[in-house]
Amino acid sequence: MGELTAADRALIEKATAAIRDRYRPGVERTSRSVGAALRTDSGEVYTGVNLTAATPRASVCAEPIAVGAAVTAGDLDFGTIVSVKYSPETSLRASESMTEEDEEAVVISPCGVCRELIRDYDPTTEVIVDGDDGLLKLQIVDLLPDLRWRGAGPPDSA
Ligand SMILES: [Zn+2]
Repeated sequence: MGELTAADRALIEKATAAIRDRYRPGVERTSRSVGAALRTDSGEVYTGVNLTAATPRASVCAEPIAVGAAVTAGDLDFGTIVSVKYSPETSLRASESMTEEDEEAVVISPCGVCRELIRDYDPTTEVIVDGDDGLLKLQIVDLLPDLRWRGAGPPDSA
């Protein structure tokens, strides 16, 4: 569990900016409302937005897009990832830790599938989540603690 740094706050803003620029309201095909930003140990930030598809199973979360951009760049030492839900029409302010400026976007936790993906690519990744007492960082392994059933996996799963 960790406190947020200035770089973490900037990462939240980058995730928000990514989806703000590509936001499409609604629940129709190609609507988008989630942005993700991944900072690697190199200091680079990779962003992604979710891809909604007419066939729900074809939809892709924002996190794999950001992870894929980092992997495509060969930047494999992940530092911190964050995801935000953007909704300018309705206030999503759900936490006292959110400021007025953040009101249109709230930090959300990665879904289970994304947790697996992030953990597979770098089990040391930290994830910014909105806890009971505000925003904090957790280790991805703590968000998805036991994957021994899959056999070969991250170093800590032996
Ligand atoms: Zn997901």
